[in-house]
Amino acid sequence: MTEPESSCEVLVIGGGPAGSTIAALLAQRGRDVLMLEKSRHPRFHIGESLLPMNMPLFEQLGVGEEMKRIGIVKRGAEFVSPSHGTAVMIDFNDAWDNTHATAYQVRRDEFDEVLFRNAAAKGARVVEECKVTGIEFLADAGARVTTVDKAGQSQRIQARFVVDASGRDTFLSRHFGMKHRNKKHNSAAIFGHFAGARRLEGEVEGNISIFWFEHGWFWFIPLADGNTSIGATCWPYYMKTRQTDTRQFLLDTIALCPELVERLKDATLVSKVTATGNFSYLSERSSGTNYILLGDAFAFIDPVFSSGVFLAMNSAFAGADAVEACLNQPRQAARVLKQFDKVMTHGPKVFSWFIYRITTPAMRDLLMYQGAESKIKKALISVLIGDVFSKKGYAFWLLMFKVMYYWLSLSDPKGSLMAWRRRRRSIRAVDEMDVVV
Ligand SMILES: Cc1cc2nc3c(=O)[nH]c(=O)nc-3n(C[C@H](O)[C@H](O)[C@H](O)COP(=O)(O)OP(=O)(O)OC[C@H]3O[C@@H](n4cnc5c(N)ncnc54)[C@H](O)[C@@H]3O)c2cc1C
Repeated sequence: MTEPESSCEVLVIGGGPAGSTIAALLAQRGRDVLMLEKSRHPRFHIGESLLPMNMPLFEQLGVGEEMKRIGIVKRGAEFVSPSHGTAVMIDFNDAWDNTHATAYQVRRDEFDEVLFRNAAAKGARVVEECKVTGIEFLADAGARVTTVDKAGQSQRIQARFVVDASGRDTFLSRHFGMKHRNKKHNSAAIFGHFAGARRLEGEVEGNISIFWFEHGWFWFIPLADGNTSIGATCWPYYMKTRQTDTRQFLLDTIALCPELVERLKDATLVSKVTATGNFSYLSERSSGTNYILLGDAFAFIDPVFSSGVFLAMNSAFAGADAVEACLNQPRQAARVLKQFDKVMTHGPKVFSWFIYRITTPAMRDLLMYQGAESKIKKALISVLIGDVFSKKGYAFWLLMFKVMYYWLSLSDPKGSLMAWRRRRRSIRAVDEMDVVV
């Protein structure tokens, strides 16, 4: 076997939110961390709406002020339902624990760059335009990774521990053949940035708006530069009906939602339009001997609750503790990685219960409920702010929300059955149509 050309203690594949977070945390603890990113920051990425539970993570990473500079404050979420003929505003202040009641909307080119440079400032070695192309695990000696840089030069690097934070590329999951389509859900999206969109007014200007429509839902995310990110998340079968270019298809899709058309009537599309194929998948496991998977490299379901970046960064915090423990006490690795797996599976599990039911009339009615504040509603808002790991005091009321959901579903058996059948038809597999344009 040829000798590696360089080495490190921890090699991080991918410099998105998950990779940059764990690289900063481990470097801060004195670990020799090398993070490789195939692109160069700043680069476009989707996922612009954050959750209040991101805020304490920013503070711990020491990037709170920079996030404030690049973000616009998000205080809640507006749901607009044409079938209910109305809109409701969810205020994050109404969560069970409202210590963190605001978040930011960010441009991901800026956001990811702040996190990436922070990792370097904390002492991680970072290399851009360097793609990890191969990996070989060595008995009791970590792994040997092959990389290719932008000049086409190949290199071999030996690492004691590998962190896969490669996002949707799912490097290790594909390597081990353990990536699976989510059989309970599938989703595709088409999106772009608009100038001149009519935003909400006053202190809720930065709130996200969600518009339901026949084939899925739209996001409306105001950004600090004055532009607004608009995207349609739809069933993949709908995306397959596209006959025009993606730009025209996005405009035609927006035309199906009069409430959104109204908000965009003076707006101009100012970016290129991107479409993604089905992005709901999961990996069989989150770790193994001398490696872990973080964020989207492990699983992604659906963006409706803006949970992706928070789950990715939170997984990096849990991952940093796990890697540290594995390196310090290799004999404890199995126990430590089991604990880590609980964190990795818990977040997606909490959100997926809602995501799988989001198209049912009962769930829509509950989300659009405008009655008096109740403990049940507070429990729901606690999930919406991302407070899913502590569930301080609200677990019972969340259970009551689910009881109400089933009770509402049973009280309208015909509507529920039709929704269930429609969903079954909609999540049928279609040929993979990955990132286009
Ligand atoms: C349509 C859509 C809308 C979304 N909206 C939201 C939202 O509003 N809010 C939200 O929180 N989340 C949203 N998400 C999810 C969010 O984008 C992701 O969950 C989040 O970016 C995951 O972070 P990550 O660090 O795990 O992966 P990524 O952000 O994807 O970062 C992975 C990095 O790894 C690099 N990389 C990949 N392979 C290699 C390799 N072989 N070698 C070196 N580098 C590599 C990539 O270039 C990339 O920079 C959305 C997702 C989709 C699909």
